[in-house]
Amino acid sequence: EPVLVLDGITKTYNAGTPGEIAVLRGASLSVAPGEVVALVAPSGSGKSTLLHIAGLLDVPDAGTVTLAGTAVAGLPDRTRTALRRREVGFIYQFHHLLPEFDAAENVILPQLADGVPEADARARAEGLLASVGLGARLTHRPAALSGGEQQRVAFCRALANAPKVLLADEPTGNLDPATSDTVFDAMMAQVRETGLSAVIATHNMALAGRMDRVVRMENGVLSEG
Ligand code: ADP
Ligand code: ADP
Repeated sequence: EPVLVLDGITKTYNAGTPGEIAVLRGASLSVAPGEVVALVAPSGSGKSTLLHIAGLLDVPDAGTVTLAGTAVAGLPDRTRTALRRREVGFIYQFHHLLPEFDAAENVILPQLADGVPEADARARAEGLLASVGLGARLTHRPAALSGGEQQRVAFCRALANAPKVLLADEPTGNLDPATSDTVFDAMMAQVRETGLSAVIATHNMALAGRMDRVVRMENGVLSEG
């Protein structure tokens, strides 16, 4: 059974006004357990909108989202939010870490919000950070970390609650090529080890080519290759 299914998703912004823009026009995608999909799309094509809909942060005008076997349409807000927090991890181009907390705390906090006991949350955070080479950076605040290290912490935070799907919006887009490769390698190793599914938007065709499948977005629809 696929972990994520988007079927015929449409989304129009500013409907009925002169600024009307039909961003998604029947976008469909199915992601199998453990599959890593590269999403290649020009800027402004609706990639962020698609990822937000896939991750239950936004609602489509039409079409259906099925996440971890649950059809999302019509679920009450609280149920959708709970499903998102359990099953989806997000990472963006910018790390969005909390500046006043250290690396470990940034990975611990989402677990506490989910009711995980603090000792367990800390153990998991430290394990995740060590797995991406940050075992010696646990007590560094974001400002004391390099760009690549910040993104690796953000990746660990995305995995903190053991989601089934990672949604990544140009996670290495702000990094120089060498750092981008290092961060991508660390992410992929951990994704493979945990059997996580992922949709990773990127402009970097070398990175896209290392994923299981490349999906392109154009004119509001998705196509293979
Ligand atoms: P991408 O991530 O591919 O750059 P986005 O999904 O962010 O694309 O945006 C696609 C288009 O939709 C852009 O033209 C953008 O300006 C517009 N857009 C995105 N979000 C909104 C919104 N909340 N309201 C109005 N227009 C939006
Ligand atoms: P990101 O791709 O960094 O996640 P956003 O989703 O914030 O960016 O925005 C993507 C694009 O959509 C930008 O061009 C932004 O100007 C546009 N956009 C976002 N929200 C709105 C909105 N409420 N109204 C109009 N345009 C928006």
